Amino acid sequence: MGLYASDILVAGGGIAGLAAALALARQGASVQIIEQAEAFAEVGAGIQIGPNVTRILRGWGLEPELRQLASFPRALQARDAHSGRVWGRLPLGERSERVYGAPYACIHRADLHRLLLAAVQARDVPLRLEQRLATVQLHGDRVQVRTEQGLALETDLLVGADGLWSRCRQALGLDGPPHFTGHLAYRGLIALDEPSREPLVTVWMGPRLHVVHYPVQAGRALNVVAIVHGAPPAQPHDWDHAAHATQLLQALGPVCGPLRQTLEAVPRWRLWALNDRAPLTSPAQMGQGAIALLGDAAHPMRPYLAQGAGMAIEDAQVLAQCWAAAGSVADRVQRYALLRWPRNAQVQARAVRNGHLFHARGPLRWARNLAMGVLGAGVMDVPWLYRGL
Ligand SMILES: Cc1cc2nc3c(=O)[nH]c(=O)nc-3n(C[C@H](O)[C@H](O)[C@H](O)COP(=O)(O)OP(=O)(O)OC[C@H]3O[C@@H](n4cnc5c(N)ncnc54)[C@H](O)[C@@H]3O)c2cc1C
Repeated sequence: MGLYASDILVAGGGIAGLAAALALARQGASVQIIEQAEAFAEVGAGIQIGPNVTRILRGWGLEPELRQLASFPRALQARDAHSGRVWGRLPLGERSERVYGAPYACIHRADLHRLLLAAVQARDVPLRLEQRLATVQLHGDRVQVRTEQGLALETDLLVGADGLWSRCRQALGLDGPPHFTGHLAYRGLIALDEPSREPLVTVWMGPRLHVVHYPVQAGRALNVVAIVHGAPPAQPHDWDHAAHATQLLQALGPVCGPLRQTLEAVPRWRLWALNDRAPLTSPAQMGQGAIALLGDAAHPMRPYLAQGAGMAIEDAQVLAQCWAAAGSVADRVQRYALLRWPRNAQVQARAVRNGHLFHARGPLRWARNLAMGVLGAGVMDVPWLYRGL
């Protein structure tokens, strides 16, 4: 097999890898992608993307496709999982455009992936499926990569977008594997007979649990995510497997009628064991020399701020801007790492804090509800995040 060379090699064809390849190709770089899967499956479920992210997608010319595929909720409401009471409401919709200059969207992960893939393919970026990155070696200024399937590739810059168990991260000699958070996410989709007339993101909060639901697929389905505390599945790498509704309802305990009805309408649950890493503490954890990390490879986070994919897309945008600037590859990677690590660390930390607040018991729960009742949207909004880069 020959040696495939390019300016940039992206390892991993998830949201982070496709976003990076697209952003870099838009800057005129020669990019190729390797992806271990033999085909892209419809994995995942819904994700929320805030105005900090839709603004970037708009800049990449993807808004028409986003408008067709996503839902645009009018508000985020926080409710008590037991009493059903609405504690707080943050307007999204028109306010998101007015205050942050971009919409708040909810989209199925497969739709976002498809949208990015089509944009990457339209730029003729080579995508080599069924190629699992195995070794990374530095040869002078160049990086040589071999895949388990025997492909040899050479590049100026290796972009590690290979997810939670990243090989590129290992190549940088960083810390060990991610750790299990003690939280389990059950995800499912409910098909809606007619597009959701009340497009809302609803967060139900209870002691040691929360449930989030919102419309996706242009309002034709409701995405439901239920988070409970529990033991990790027997095999930690087995992150997505069938789970039973009865297990979930037992873990949730006595929730209110409307929430129970929604949960009971989910035809099929899938279970994710949630892993994360401690918030980043230095730029070296985002990239060094000729290797830059993006997305979950660099900063896997709890989904309680709904920004894992969002930060991957921001990473991609900043990496492309740094790549377009003058300097050596190592200088450009260093600039990228310096720009990205504090923001990713802040988002990781805020996601952990949100989890504590959502699942609070006792006085903290009482104080949370009071704050939402008195301060309303003020405590639910995240201007430093949504204003973006
Ligand atoms: C319950 C839940 C809810 C979430 N909700 C949201 C939300 O509302 N908003 C949001 O923004 N984010 C959300 N996220 C987070 C988001 O889904 C992830 O942060 C994001 O998908 C990570 O993308 P990635 O490309 O970095 O990693 P991945 O999606 O894991 O992609 C990595 C890719 O690399 C490939 N790969 C791995 N190893 C190799 C190798 N050695 N060689 C070649 N290829 C390789 C994999 O096959 C895969 O395709 C949520 C996550 C969960 C679990």
